[in-house]
Amino acid sequence: MLARILRPPKAALIYPIPPAPRCAVLAAGFRPQGTVRVFPSGWNEDAAKFQPQALAAPLDRLEALAGKLTLTHAVIVFRREWEPRLDAAQRDRLWRAFRVPVFEQILAENGALLAAECEAHDGLHIESAKFAAGDHEIDRAACACGKTSPRLTGTGRDAIRRVAAYAR
Ligand SMILES: [Zn+2]
Repeated sequence: MLARILRPPKAALIYPIPPAPRCAVLAAGFRPQGTVRVFPSGWNEDAAKFQPQALAAPLDRLEALAGKLTLTHAVIVFRREWEPRLDAAQRDRLWRAFRVPVFEQILAENGALLAAECEAHDGLHIESAKFAAGDHEIDRAACACGKTSPRLTGTGRDAIRRVAAYAR
């Protein structure tokens, strides 16, 4: 019981468009599952040997890998609740670095998914009642992906659409 309190269960990565390809998670707090492997201390030789087709990591770790590897599927950018949403310049840099679609995910401290961008790239679906939307703009209209959960929209929206358009 005590061990469980000290070490909460790790989260599984929610890949935006299942099934996940070979995906390297460069963050602590996740458990490996299927084709998803976890490298808690970041990019290293083992991660390179794994030859990921997709990466999931905080922005600084992704930006540090710009130009150093080729991906074929996606980059998933982890953001914390208190961090601002990805802006147009950050999305442009990720697109230029990796040439794959960018998916933003907002995570709780324990790695639980709070909000996630879907393949329609039209806001972030709120995935948890624990998410405090604060002053984010919320869109309750059905999404092109088919899900009906409310989405965070607002400042990042035009940039998301623009970058998603290159990625098609
Ligand atoms: Zn959607």
